[in-house]
Amino acid sequence: MFLRLFASLSVAVSLSSCGQNIQKSEVKSYILGVSQEHSAYKPLIKSLIANYNASVGSTVLEFSDSMDSVNSPILITKGLETRDGKVGWGQWSSSTERKGTTVPLPGANATETTKYSLQVEFDEDFLSSNSKESAAGIPNYEVQKLFAHEIGHGFQMEHDPDVKQIMYLDISGEKSFDTYWPRVRSFFAL
Ligand SMILES: [Zn+2]
Repeated sequence: MFLRLFASLSVAVSLSSCGQNIQKSEVKSYILGVSQEHSAYKPLIKSLIANYNASVGSTVLEFSDSMDSVNSPILITKGLETRDGKVGWGQWSSSTERKGTTVPLPGANATETTKYSLQVEFDEDFLSSNSKESAAGIPNYEVQKLFAHEIGHGFQMEHDPDVKQIMYLDISGEKSFDTYWPRVRSFFAL
């Protein structure tokens, strides 16, 4: 189960179609993780997540050491920039599960649960060259910007036409987060 009190948004609405009662709910719970071969990056990722949650003011991202409980993997790829001309990717996905009677009989009950997740991919050289080579893996401004931008896509944000904003398609230089954090809070109804 991904239902967590503080980390996810769960809204239930009830609507009727053809006499059928469908209970709809949404689960926004994001449990990040990195594969074992990239475990050296765990301290860095954990530190990015901690900074991110602190900026949001709520735990919207979690980290798990066990890939079995991860629904939002972080891929760390060597040569990503050479391959794609970008140092990161971010995308969101959702899956909807319906339980109960699928035939719209009058009075029949069904539940529909939509679970959201995300996937991000980072260029390995970009991460390692922009973070202190210590066990703490302290992220610098460049890594924090990349992380926030790609997680933003994971939270269904599109590019912002304003060059100053972190969701602008090019994240080089000084960026503003002043519209970003309110959008994240709004996505989680915080
Ligand atoms: Zn982008």
